[in-house]
Amino acid sequence: MRYNAFQILRHGLAGNRGWRPAWRKAEPQAAYDAVIVGGGGHGLSTAYYLAKRHGVRRVAVLEKGWIGSGNIGRNTTIVRANYGLPGNSEFYSHSLKLWEGLEQELNYNVMHSQRGLINLFHSDGQRDAYARRGNAIRNQGDDAILLDTDGVRKILPWLDFEQTRFPIYGGLYQPRGGTARHDAVAWGYARGADRLGVDLIENCEVTGIAVEAGRVTGVETTRGAIRAGKVGLAVAGRSSQVAALAGLKLPIESHVLQAFVTEGLKPVIDHVVTYGMGHFYISQSDKGGLVFGGDLDFYPSYAARGNLPMAEHVLEAGVTLMPMIGKARMLRSWGGIMDMSPDGSPVIDRAPLEGLYLNTGWCYGGFKAVPGSGDCFAHLLATDAPHPAAARLRLDRFDTGHGLMDEEGTGAQHNLH
Ligand SMILES: Cc1cc2nc3c(=O)[nH]c(=O)nc-3n(C[C@H](O)[C@H](O)[C@H](O)COP(=O)(O)OP(=O)(O)OC[C@H]3O[C@@H](n4cnc5c(N)ncnc54)[C@H](O)[C@@H]3O)c2cc1C
Repeated sequence: MRYNAFQILRHGLAGNRGWRPAWRKAEPQAAYDAVIVGGGGHGLSTAYYLAKRHGVRRVAVLEKGWIGSGNIGRNTTIVRANYGLPGNSEFYSHSLKLWEGLEQELNYNVMHSQRGLINLFHSDGQRDAYARRGNAIRNQGDDAILLDTDGVRKILPWLDFEQTRFPIYGGLYQPRGGTARHDAVAWGYARGADRLGVDLIENCEVTGIAVEAGRVTGVETTRGAIRAGKVGLAVAGRSSQVAALAGLKLPIESHVLQAFVTEGLKPVIDHVVTYGMGHFYISQSDKGGLVFGGDLDFYPSYAARGNLPMAEHVLEAGVTLMPMIGKARMLRSWGGIMDMSPDGSPVIDRAPLEGLYLNTGWCYGGFKAVPGSGDCFAHLLATDAPHPAAARLRLDRFDTGHGLMDEEGTGAQHNLH
């Protein structure tokens, strides 16, 4: 069923009883050409592009919970392409371009809103760093505008410009940055993949990886064994655990990242804003809630929930930057398990085991990567060669020292990364 205005009218007049489920409840088959482990944004987009661009139709996505139950449904929905280093910049640039055509591609409203993103800076040194980053972004072909204090004041007049501790010196503005509805991205890719014949198998946990003569030949699951020509892992915060099923040790740690939302308010914040002197960022959802977050909980954990000290830390930064939000009532907080790499950048690469492929290390930034990651991972799975936009996202950079430290990385000793 294609979605369009005519369908809305037709089904609306018929009491909305004619809509069909957006995807089938598929049963696992004995064998597939490719099995993707993880039904989050990356797994679903990979399956979609595998079928769409490479014609690989015998594909299954195995999800231990339900589609969208992981970080794809827990993030703060920021989409941007404002990285400074080669490796990340061409990859996120590629991803943002895919976002810009995604709703037409999927025939699904993912509510992609290019409302603009402003990273505030608060010192001369930080301005220099942001100016350099802005130049790198423009050299990549993307958009970046360096604003001074008055430039920020015109766009965000409600910030506290009088505070003396961390005065606002300006901001790096990316007009094409913004947000999208996170669940809709999962649902849109799930529906798109299903229409191309991909089996989306929910409540199917991968509990083992079958290896024969040094080659991966399939997976063990809670719903039986499944043979596969190729197995791709896209399990985000569970990457180390699932890779360990094949005897691999990944340089990935799992940490909790929390987010928060207030009651619904009238439109007040019409950009995405990040605070350069405290780990705090905020936007307003289309329902009106102020959606915000901050830093990791600072210790490895598999508990998808947060704690009060971090809530206090984040709220403190938020109220410092924009005292007006102190009046809003907070509704909910939640946590997601992040796959943190030591240099804060991802991996899309073949595993050191024939037939196994890795998609991991998304840290706090994997939502905006969903289209690009799916496209590049599908390319790798289908051709065994890296997609040009992801050629530097290699696993062996942690051996060779070709790190991609663009934003903060996190490991056992947070301060050393
Ligand atoms: C609070 C928070 C805020 C964030 N904000 C942003 C943001 O603003 N912008 C941004 O770009 N990124 C953001 N992120 C990061 C982003 O959400 C993640 O990097 C991204 O969603 C991870 O990829 P995914 O969608 O595939 O992960 P997930 O949705 O977690 O998918 C992985 C799936 O694998 C499944 N799985 C795990 N183990 C197994 C197994 N053994 N068998 C079968 N299935 C398994 C899980 O159940 C899960 O559904 C945020 C994350 C959090 C938690």
